[in-house]
Amino acid sequence: MTTTVSAYAADSATSPLKKTTIERRDVGPHDVAFDIKFAGICHSDIHTVKGEWGEPNYPVVVGHEIAGIVTEIGSEVTKYKVGDHVGVGCFVDSCRECDSCKEGLEQYCTGPGGMIGTYNATGKDGTPTYGGYSTAIVVDENYVLRIPDSIPLDKAAPLLCAGITLYSPLRHWDAGPGKEVAVIGLGGLGHMGVKIAHAMGAHVTVLSQSLKKMEDGLRLGADEYYATSDPDTFTKLAGKFDLILNTVSANLDMGAYLGLLGRDGTLVELGAPEQPLSVPFFPLGGLRRSLAGSMIGGIAETQEMLDFCAEHDVTPEIEVIEASYVNEAYERVLASDVRYRFVIDTSTL
Ligand code: NAP
Ligand code: ZN
Ligand code: ZN
Repeated sequence: MTTTVSAYAADSATSPLKKTTIERRDVGPHDVAFDIKFAGICHSDIHTVKGEWGEPNYPVVVGHEIAGIVTEIGSEVTKYKVGDHVGVGCFVDSCRECDSCKEGLEQYCTGPGGMIGTYNATGKDGTPTYGGYSTAIVVDENYVLRIPDSIPLDKAAPLLCAGITLYSPLRHWDAGPGKEVAVIGLGGLGHMGVKIAHAMGAHVTVLSQSLKKMEDGLRLGADEYYATSDPDTFTKLAGKFDLILNTVSANLDMGAYLGLLGRDGTLVELGAPEQPLSVPFFPLGGLRRSLAGSMIGGIAETQEMLDFCAEHDVTPEIEVIEASYVNEAYERVLASDVRYRFVIDTSTL
């Protein structure tokens, strides 16, 4: 027997999201069931719904920034109890046997089928996975995160994707005191990058399309802020950075941005635009620069990030919305008019 829960789903690439119901599996021995209280809106939800990464399995229920309260645990569960504040990010399972899984890098699972996405994937029980724009979910305890008491659930939700997606490369490429870090795009991901890089002690520069959000950027922890619509930015900042994190959801002139790295600097691509990126040789090879990619983070590192954010009082800037506002929120994200993450109050579902 399954449980029927409310959800918001898209039936096609062009139809608006609308209210529906979905089934959640019974709580197995290793499962945690929780009531979803808040779900963040990630730009990846929009890429998926609109079919920009290929046709998803409609109806699709997206949402992979999920925070809530445990309502039931399976007989073998040891990590969580009823009433705990928990979260789920971009994946709900993986093979558990490949080198990546054994090293706690489940997001890079190389087992059959790879990691199992929180939505638009097939679970180990053969049923489709449905994401966080819903009122409850059942997930294996090993893929559930503990939300520290000091972080309210609405602010915790965006950490599960936006937070970890920036924390992981900042750690991997050693952001910290003495490091020049730039963040391209001050949206959901970008603003978390600014806050986390600042908390790690790096010197942080925002590269945004305009200066419209400059006051916010400086308040969030940036040391410098430039408009990329101004060609002078690219001459002024040439060779400045050790690390650039690109969070832009569209294609940029990669050559121009690579030119902002110093020798041996690294540009990490985090945005996942619909079209392939085009990369010229000379700005890359000329100063032995690296172009890298990074995708979310593993379970252990996500827990580390949550604890880091609690310790350093780092939380996202959010606009909590009712579920019925989701289609309008999508339009605003697409227009770069989000400050800085929409979070759905799922009690309005
Ligand atoms: P978002 O809130 O829409 O932020 C993207 C920002 O990029 C915008 O706020 C805007 O910042 C800038 N931007 C947008 N269109 C642009 C354009 N045409 N030219 C230049 N700049 C533009 O989106 P998000 O949720 O942060 O996600 C960003 C991207 O990361 C998406 O492609 C998403 O799928 C991807 N993503 C990747 C991972 C991963 O693991 N690698 C995880 C989550 C999301 P300004 O207004 O400041 O210029
Ligand atoms: Zn995401
Ligand atoms: Zn694996």
